Amino acid sequence: MLDGSPAEIRVPQGEGPPAAALIDGTALAAGLRARLAERVHRLNRRHGVTLGLAVVLVGDNPASQIYVRAKIRASEEVGISCVRHDLPASTVMPELRQLISQLNQDDRVDGLLLQLPLPPSINPDAVINALNPEKDVDGLHTINVGRLAGGRPGLVPCTPQGCMLLLRSVRPAPAGEHALIIGRSQLVGRPLAQLLLQADCTVTVAHSKTADLAALCRSATVVIAAAGRPELVRGDWIRRGAVVIDAGINRVTAPDGTSRIVGDVAFAEAASRASAMTPVPGGVGPMTVACLLENTFAAACRRRSLDPATV
Ligand code: NAD
Repeated sequence: MLDGSPAEIRVPQGEGPPAAALIDGTALAAGLRARLAERVHRLNRRHGVTLGLAVVLVGDNPASQIYVRAKIRASEEVGISCVRHDLPASTVMPELRQLISQLNQDDRVDGLLLQLPLPPSINPDAVINALNPEKDVDGLHTINVGRLAGGRPGLVPCTPQGCMLLLRSVRPAPAGEHALIIGRSQLVGRPLAQLLLQADCTVTVAHSKTADLAALCRSATVVIAAAGRPELVRGDWIRRGAVVIDAGINRVTAPDGTSRIVGDVAFAEAASRASAMTPVPGGVGPMTVACLLENTFAAACRRRSLDPATV
């Protein structure tokens, strides 16, 4: 019986089972994309629809360049035609609004993705709310945020959707789980809280001002980390048998100058206590991209009053 007491939690390094099963986001995402490719093909064959995604990138953030390339490659692989719009960092709000307005009206565009972050001179909320909410495949428009909060159909942010699919791959019926989300951003933590509530979990949302994060972790049966703090969550914070989903992507540089990507959870430590855990990379990242494609498909169907589940 786990009671989360310090005696229960003090596990010597290297102690045996449970060694966490790896939740393979790369494989899960490949399966999603393969099934989606068939549906994209059917949508085209039955309804003559060619799916289109417009990607807008402002400035030259190197990480954004990598993410955009990955999203476009994945889209084209499933048969979604992509148009990329690159704007300089010096772009001013009216120019960006004009492009968005043109893409909002373009019937060939089903999904409209504005890669974040935007340059500091541009107010992201104003631009996001200039998107047509029916094309807002990141699910960040106030209308989609409200739909999610109200439990109504709409476009849901991709990373939280991906986290839910990863969770359901090991806990198909997560009702009653105590889910701790670490991070309360608009992009990940907040929408994820709504999705977990819809799945009948008991939800705790922690953030940078939370007191005693370790104690909260020890009482959670599901931990989803999205803080952007390398290896913040230590192994002895994890309740034995918990499921751990790590959305963090952090580049850390060793004293010898080499760098690597780590998550928000100390992987090897946590894996000796969790029952299942996502790796970084290869966990949430590929699922985020796959969910973007799902959203583009869903947006195309919604605009044409087709049920995406039956296409
Ligand atoms: P953000 O900076 O907008 O939000 C971070 C959140 O973490 C904030 O709510 C903050 O209060 C909280 N936080 C920070 N330090 C904390 C601490 N010590 N204890 C508890 N909470 C703390 O970041 P974001 O956009 O939500 O991204 C979070 C992480 O997820 C980043 O590493 C980001 O790279 C990653 N991310 C990954 C994907 C993906 O596809 N895998 C997508 C989006 C974000």
